[in-house]
Amino acid sequence: MIKWRCKICGYIHEGDSPPDKCPVCGAGPEDFKLLEHTQTPQSKLAIARIIIIGNGAAGVEAARTIREHNKSVEILIFTEESYHLYSRIHLSRFIGNQSNETDIQIYPTSWYDEQKIKVFLDTPVISISPQDNEIRDSKGSTYKYNKLIIATGASPFIPSIEGSSLKGVFSLRNLTDAIKIREKAKNSHSAVIVGGGILGIEAASSLKSIGLKVSIIETAHHLMLKQLDQDASMLLQSILEDKGINFYLNHRVVKFLGVDHLESTVLDTGEEIKADLALISTGISSNISLAQDADINVNRGIIVNEHLQSNFPNIYAAGDVSEFQGTIMGIWPSAVDQGIVAAKNALGIKTKYTGTVPLHILKVSGLELTTVGQKYKKNSTDEEIKYTSKQKEQYLKLIYNRNIILGVILIGVASIGFGLEKLIKNKTPITEIIPHLEKGNWDIVKKKMKQM
Ligand SMILES: Cc1cc2nc3c(=O)[nH]c(=O)nc-3n(C[C@H](O)[C@H](O)[C@H](O)COP(=O)(O)OP(=O)(O)OC[C@H]3O[C@@H](n4cnc5c(N)ncnc54)[C@H](O)[C@@H]3O)c2cc1C
Repeated sequence: MIKWRCKICGYIHEGDSPPDKCPVCGAGPEDFKLLEHTQTPQSKLAIARIIIIGNGAAGVEAARTIREHNKSVEILIFTEESYHLYSRIHLSRFIGNQSNETDIQIYPTSWYDEQKIKVFLDTPVISISPQDNEIRDSKGSTYKYNKLIIATGASPFIPSIEGSSLKGVFSLRNLTDAIKIREKAKNSHSAVIVGGGILGIEAASSLKSIGLKVSIIETAHHLMLKQLDQDASMLLQSILEDKGINFYLNHRVVKFLGVDHLESTVLDTGEEIKADLALISTGISSNISLAQDADINVNRGIIVNEHLQSNFPNIYAAGDVSEFQGTIMGIWPSAVDQGIVAAKNALGIKTKYTGTVPLHILKVSGLELTTVGQKYKKNSTDEEIKYTSKQKEQYLKLIYNRNIILGVILIGVASIGFGLEKLIKNKTPITEIIPHLEKGNWDIVKKKMKQM
């Protein structure tokens, strides 16, 4: 079996050639790398049943991996959603376009039958009993498991803002939210986006593209605080301002006003912005309550070891719900990586999770923005190379230490982000290319990639 892995989101495609378009992130065939060309060793472990809670990236990747390595174990997935796995990454674009639910579905419904993966849609798990190795679903049925993988993801973090329950105030996590926002947007004139992170910016651009007046309100002094340095953020802001998006940085939303429906948003300065749609996009919090109630150790997420195992040896956690070495990654590729590792360990194939290099791509039409790893120098021996084009449409920054790249920010530069990600992942020395990078010749990265 030939397998291809999408370099952006981790999606694994099986077939003679890569797909024309990645169903998760939309990447082209050139963004797929050959993964393996051999039969994978089959797990000999006699496990009757593995239950997975959650059918997002981590849960379904875990199921796919289990089946790849074991043809007989029973796999049950429970989900509170009404849909099979879809690309959550596409939701911010979905609210501003005409695609339908099946366009963003990742596997056809028949795939689950072919793989003998039983999915219980609209059936949240309401409790776990680790002592009895049993879960209970919302319909009152109980199921025993030999191994359990918790992949319940995360929910939007909603700060306490007066008026948040007004009609027209939304958050965006799942397809049901996206459908509601899209419907509302059709009859709206202006929107405020609370939060200037990746999701907020993508949603803003999407709503702008269908004719709404859009403002982003951000408490920090710059956009994409986690991924960009100040210079990159200012450039991004000016590009987005040219597209007609308004910004209120260093501002906080204190109140949503309206009678039943949202009419305006009040800032900490007292300024009022007319808006009939608001999207709160202020981060995520992991869905840990189920685990917490079952005495599974949690902090912000479910605490897991390098095998993604919780304090109960036959219970694993993967994706946005898991906390590994104090970190919740909150990105699709790490959910996929963790789904794979949790699945293998559940099957007795000892595998360590070693982390996922955080790669972020902003998906706004006409704008290329990629960040990988560290954005600032962290210690005295870190060095940086910075380049801004004369027309200020390109910005490149690279942080390195002893010839090993630690992080990159690229704006307006296509097709070298993944190359740099690979150099970071492989800790490839870049000694000979540094002088070229200092002169602004970033295409040298492509040459270096070809030599690898
Ligand atoms: C709009 C948007 C855009 C994004 N863009 C990007 C991007 O560009 N790049 C990127 O890397 N990441 C992006 N992300 C983040 C990425 O989608 C997540 O990191 C990824 O989906 C996490 O996968 P997961 O399987 O851990 O959780 P999820 O995908 O959240 O899946 C968890 C599932 O578990 C279900 N569940 C929860 N509780 C229960 C229960 N008790 N019983 C049964 N089921 C339950 C949930 O309903 C959900 O279906 C984006 C997210 C959003 C919302």
